Amino acid sequence: MTQPFSIAIHGGAGTIERSLMTPELELAYRKALAESVLAGYRVLEQGGSAVDATVAAVTVMEDSPLFNAGKGSVLTYEEAVEMDACVMEGNALNAGAVTLIRHIKNPIQLARDVMQKSPHAMLAGEGAERFAFKECGYTYTEQDYFFTDRRYKELKAMKKSGGVALSEARYPDEKKHGTVGAVALDKHGNLAAATSTGGLTNKRWGRVGDTPIIGGGTFARNGNVAVSATGMGELLMRCAVAGDIAGRMQYGHDSIEQACRDVIHGDFLNLGGEGGVIAIDANGQVNFELNCPGMYRATVNENGEALVAIFADEAFRVENGN
Ligand code: ASP
Repeated sequence: MTQPFSIAIHGGAGTIERSLMTPELELAYRKALAESVLAGYRVLEQGGSAVDATVAAVTVMEDSPLFNAGKGSVLTYEEAVEMDACVMEGNALNAGAVTLIRHIKNPIQLARDVMQKSPHAMLAGEGAERFAFKECGYTYTEQDYFFTDRRYKELKAMKKSGGVALSEARYPDEKKHGTVGAVALDKHGNLAAATSTGGLTNKRWGRVGDTPIIGGGTFARNGNVAVSATGMGELLMRCAVAGDIAGRMQYGHDSIEQACRDVIHGDFLNLGGEGGVIAIDANGQVNFELNCPGMYRATVNENGEALVAIFADEAFRVENGN
């Protein structure tokens, strides 16, 4: 009997308005999402682990300037890039997270190394980078690599208004972002979740978002669910969104749809939170939930084709990654 396996990804959520999206940009997003989800799918198809599949999918989006993760990360008040990432494996509740990363091209890969090669679950800033260079042989990446003109303009605008920009806030007024994430079930029955972000434009004082917080923006437990969140990190973490969804399913026996809906439209929304989650259960059922006009998202159908959607009211469409 073939074991079920599946994958879903997101590239950020927020005010993504159809009327404001150019056809060229929309196509670029759709292709990048398809490329990412198919990269993860291929790992699963070949019998690879859910962890490696989610890391492969997230790596593609970290390497794209379209998303707020890796290259294309937003800028802090001090005009630097500071990235957060987390990987969790449902098998033994293993997790690795990194935060305040400045010189690593793919923070999601470092998060996996924290999980697999260190005795710790989370490493921050200089220490995390020391671990990367000294223990894992990473190459030092200059901040210049991450800088894009677009992010610099966003920061300037944000400094004027004195705010911090949320993920995909008011698309496309140049405050939009795109934290990225993936969830997967592999052929061995293991669930995994991975999330990576540059955080919020104009963030200050070593701000850390929900992404690297285990049970905040990322969670996975075998037999239960894997979740990756995007949106206003302060509220996602205060509401322990990923852990809450898992708990409702594990102890309250909620379906994946109900758990995601109640959490994303519950305290999180009532407190002013905007965002969404992707989730996958122990049977490989995928679920997307959002409380805002759009979330870049994708999964793969039974024919191995990428299914992509952007706007909240949109049905998934087949898209190839070329
Ligand atoms: N959740 C991310 C953070 O607060 C932002 C996002 O999803 O775009 O760091």
